[in-house]
Amino acid sequence: MKKDYQSIDNISPSTRSTGETIEQFELPFPGETMNGKPVIWRPNTRTVLSLKSLKFEEKLLCDGITLNPGDACVFSCGFCYVEGQMIKVDKPYLKALNAERHTRGESELTFEQVVIRRPDSVGLLRQQLFDKKGRAKFADPDDNWVVYGSTLVDVAANMELLRETADLCNLILESTAWQIRLLSKSSLLHRLFKDNMIPVRHRHRLILGFSTGTLDDNVASAIEMGTARVSKRLESLHWLQDEGYRTFGMICPSLPQVDGDYESFSRKICEAIRVDRCEHVWAEVINLRGRSLVRTLGALHTAELEDEALALSAVMGQGKKTAWEEYSRATFLAHAMHVPAEKLRYLQYIDGSTADWWADHREHGAILLGKAAEERNLATSVG
Ligand code: SF4
Repeated sequence: MKKDYQSIDNISPSTRSTGETIEQFELPFPGETMNGKPVIWRPNTRTVLSLKSLKFEEKLLCDGITLNPGDACVFSCGFCYVEGQMIKVDKPYLKALNAERHTRGESELTFEQVVIRRPDSVGLLRQQLFDKKGRAKFADPDDNWVVYGSTLVDVAANMELLRETADLCNLILESTAWQIRLLSKSSLLHRLFKDNMIPVRHRHRLILGFSTGTLDDNVASAIEMGTARVSKRLESLHWLQDEGYRTFGMICPSLPQVDGDYESFSRKICEAIRVDRCEHVWAEVINLRGRSLVRTLGALHTAELEDEALALSAVMGQGKKTAWEEYSRATFLAHAMHVPAEKLRYLQYIDGSTADWWADHREHGAILLGKAAEERNLATSVG
């Protein structure tokens, strides 16, 4: 039986979360940049932990708890869906930044061109984890649920963010019995352990993984701007595995294969991430949300990766539903050959016309998502 965590979403703001109205709002630390992007510290932040992240629990990434120290990432991936989720909350602050830039004669910036952080993230977390008398609220030693970080930003995009992530993790590790799953497109994640940022006694409660939807550094740098080369992410993963730490795979998002050889694609990528040393392997084709496909296609053209662009155009847009479905099924079937069913977690949104095929493949590792899956009781049951 899960505890009811509703009450802790009503915590009071931290000292740096001033609760100012937007009219009064002035950007703290104007001129600050991170990896070349201007930084906005969103002042009305109240939480870094969300305790009802059912969508991520359905994907089996966590037990409904997610950790988000920021709203907008240092990296800029063409397929990123975060703007659609956060723009309502962050629009006033982006507007304030742009108004300031306007006075200096500078061009306006979009959501993906800024970094948005949450002030005093460790203080916010402390308020969520402890009551007013300083007692830990979630100290049950049998409660070893998994927290997932992050659903909005990369938690290891640079050393400053990695240190923030370490501080947040250490607070969780000291005051709960929870486990923490961290995902990154950086090659710095292993330094949490290598640089002793997380004490040895807690390391068995962390599960670390890297997004590797392609092994081609050129493709990755075209569609995942600012991220580490895939080859460097794999070095970081291998260091963790060689040292005996817990890891997971994330073959995501994977594009349509130019040569149509999905078996070869899956075999090579599964060898690269060493499936036998990963606790689980998630995989997914590129997501259809917002402008993700159009932006990814544009990024491939900009990088002059015309074969990859052609393969993507062949499955996207009106009248291509069958081609899209074939691309996803071919990707899944190839992964099912190389990842044991008990480890594979292939994420698939379904509709009425595809539900039956995917339902038959749940035993091989397909996880069915979306309204059609819920209506047919094919989704992972959570809560
Ligand atoms: S690393 Fe993740 S959160 Fe950051 S831009 Fe890429 S997809 Fe978005």
